Amino acid sequence: MNNKRRDFIKKAGVLASSATMLGAVGCNDTSKSANINKGDGKMKLTFQKYELKLKHVFTVAKNSRTTTPDMQVQIHYNGITGYGEAAMPPYYPENPESAAKFYKKLDLAQFKDPFEMEKILDYVDNLDEGNHFAKAPIDIALHDLVGKLMGHPWYRIWGYDRTKAPHTSFTIGIDEPNVVQLKTKEAAPYQVLKVKLGGGNDKEMIENVRAISPEKELYVDVNGGWKDKHEALDMVHWLEDQNVSFVEQPMPKKQVDDIAWLTENSPLPIVADESIHRIPDVLAAKGIYNGINIKLMKATGMRQDHIMITLAKSFDMKILMGCMTATSCSISAAAQLSPAIDWADLDGNLLISNDPYEGVLVKKGKLIIPDRPGIGIKKI
Ligand code: MG
Repeated sequence: MNNKRRDFIKKAGVLASSATMLGAVGCNDTSKSANINKGDGKMKLTFQKYELKLKHVFTVAKNSRTTTPDMQVQIHYNGITGYGEAAMPPYYPENPESAAKFYKKLDLAQFKDPFEMEKILDYVDNLDEGNHFAKAPIDIALHDLVGKLMGHPWYRIWGYDRTKAPHTSFTIGIDEPNVVQLKTKEAAPYQVLKVKLGGGNDKEMIENVRAISPEKELYVDVNGGWKDKHEALDMVHWLEDQNVSFVEQPMPKKQVDDIAWLTENSPLPIVADESIHRIPDVLAAKGIYNGINIKLMKATGMRQDHIMITLAKSFDMKILMGCMTATSCSISAAAQLSPAIDWADLDGNLLISNDPYEGVLVKKGKLIIPDRPGIGIKKI
């Protein structure tokens, strides 16, 4: 290792010691005037553990929490920095420590041209099995970097019309009636709410939302919380009368036959979430579900999600794009794909109180993709 690189790593290590110093590793992001020939022509990776602070205690079918572990990643190249992120909720097997272990094995300096995205991301993907969440921020940061080098946001590079970005739902977690009602009041600017069910008080949850918001369109996410297909169908019929648009992951993903039966008999679309990670899962979901919920963290990033959207469309399946609680970094990356989807649940940045970025905005519930290059974020 040469002295220059050792010096850089030493400095990066000092910076990485505090997430509050996140901004310090950023470089000049005025990419439209960037000269890509400046610098040493090597890509360098830095990363920091971050803790997302949730505005409310968040409860889904399996657990409750007030914080979410998160990993922030940067790829530096010739004075330009691409940003990426992995939110790592505790119900998934990865965590910032496993991600850091994975990053220590990566050698991005071997690549001289960030535009060789396929080659670089294949290398990252093949380096180790699994580590999907850890791989996603590398993919996102590389997209951000390449978009900045080109001077264009990814929605433009992919040829999407950003005015076609959908409204996002706002998530109401399982909670006590007064908290559910408070959250529903807070969600007044949003036209669609996504209500978490599967906690044994489903009708009460919906009734508390309806006490505040009688008409609003609802999505529901059961997180695999129902076990009996006949009870599930009864519940779906009841939900249909409550102006619910679709039901996400009604039963555990292993109950494939029960889910297929429910989909066949359901008056509402049944959408896969826990069953969907990467491209082959879209093939497996065909005929079992009506739609899929894609997420950057599950799919290893923007490259795979872009393909999954195309594939699902070819099967005439609906596409919901979801997220974890996260900063505007990964939410803005996801938003670049949003003009191509049917439903958006991209509210993860709205659920935290310590977002270090500004990126995609939400106006009267609609996603507004900024006209900045890359994934469209800037530091606050
Ligand atoms: Mg879900």
